[in-house]
Amino acid sequence: MLNLNELHPETLAVRAGTMRSEFGEHSDALYLTSSFVVGSAEEAALKFTGQMPGYIYSRFTNPTVAAFEQRLAALECAERAVATASGMSAILALCMAHLKSGDHIVASSGLFGATIQLFNTYLGKFGVTVSYAAQTDLSAWEAAAQTNTKLFFLETPNNPLTEIADIAAIAEIAHRHGALLAVDNCFCSPALQQPLKWGADLVVHSATKFIDGQGRVLGGAVVGSHALIEPIYLFLRTAGPTLSAFNAWVLLKGLETLGLRMKAHCENALKLAQWLETQPQVSRVYYPGLVSHPQYALAQRQQTGAGGVLSFELKGGKAAAWALIDAVQLMSRTANLGDTRTTITHPATTSHGRLTPEARAAAGISDGMVRISVGLEHIDDLIKDLVSGF
Ligand SMILES: *Cc1c(COP(=O)(O)O)cnc(C)c1O
Repeated sequence: MLNLNELHPETLAVRAGTMRSEFGEHSDALYLTSSFVVGSAEEAALKFTGQMPGYIYSRFTNPTVAAFEQRLAALECAERAVATASGMSAILALCMAHLKSGDHIVASSGLFGATIQLFNTYLGKFGVTVSYAAQTDLSAWEAAAQTNTKLFFLETPNNPLTEIADIAAIAEIAHRHGALLAVDNCFCSPALQQPLKWGADLVVHSATKFIDGQGRVLGGAVVGSHALIEPIYLFLRTAGPTLSAFNAWVLLKGLETLGLRMKAHCENALKLAQWLETQPQVSRVYYPGLVSHPQYALAQRQQTGAGGVLSFELKGGKAAAWALIDAVQLMSRTANLGDTRTTITHPATTSHGRLTPEARAAAGISDGMVRISVGLEHIDDLIKDLVSGF
């Protein structure tokens, strides 16, 4: 007998969560239906009260969404996952379920911009406060904790500096202060990093990025123990920012090739980063797979690959960065990342454009910085594109 708990990630990626209808379809079926019919009044009553398992209404129960949740949970080695309409709704649902007025969050300073906006502007309206700690400074995380701290939240590697947070060390700090640790695992995906293994309590995903990996749909998820996911599920059931069945079906197919794609993204990104380090126009390259990266050793320990995103600084400042971005012919000028197609952006005037120049400098985002999400094109063609751009 196969022991399902001993299956490898490659197997789980294509097999976990598979369910078959009476038709015996081999691929995962797409259940595009808002509601489900019951056989009797009694069955409806039992299903609504949770005494009988089954599907009721797609705001909170849909077989295609359930299959995606089970497959993702298997890949994160988690008890349970709950899918959401986007990465941001995953973070919102987590906060709505686990925080209340008067609570405090300790978060890493280099978070995704919309996450900072959500914490400061919207959670702030309801009396939740936030302190930010530098990603790599453990004493700053310790110092930021308060008696009312309920959640530590980080993203590693972060964007665009690819700084690595020490998940195990920060989990220890969070737990000592009686708080949960949630990790945004968007840059690595479960194929390269499993935060729960390092002591995180919850993992959030923007499935829009590498999990879809082909730039087609938005989606998100929160992953963790039954006990921590259940209140998040109940918030989604009530408020409704759930994943659509169609998007779940696309993302299920994305998970099947995630491991292979991440391996190829990592190989291409490492070659591109190493090449960039030898270019005279480039003053610095940020990529966790480079020996020159300040947290190289930590990245090697915590991740099974360095990821598909890198940044670099051009000596010519903003003018040189804009000229390069305007000159590339293959790479896509778009802010999205985690796509089969390579994308190139200028963080200082896009993702971090609304910060003051001082705040941007404090965050380490220089005017000459360019971020590339390295896709699956041939590496020689990507290098050629940058050579002609330079
Ligand atoms: C894109 C992104 C998000 C938000 O995800 P959406 O699916 O766009 O809502 C959150 N965190 C990180 C690190 C991201 O890159």
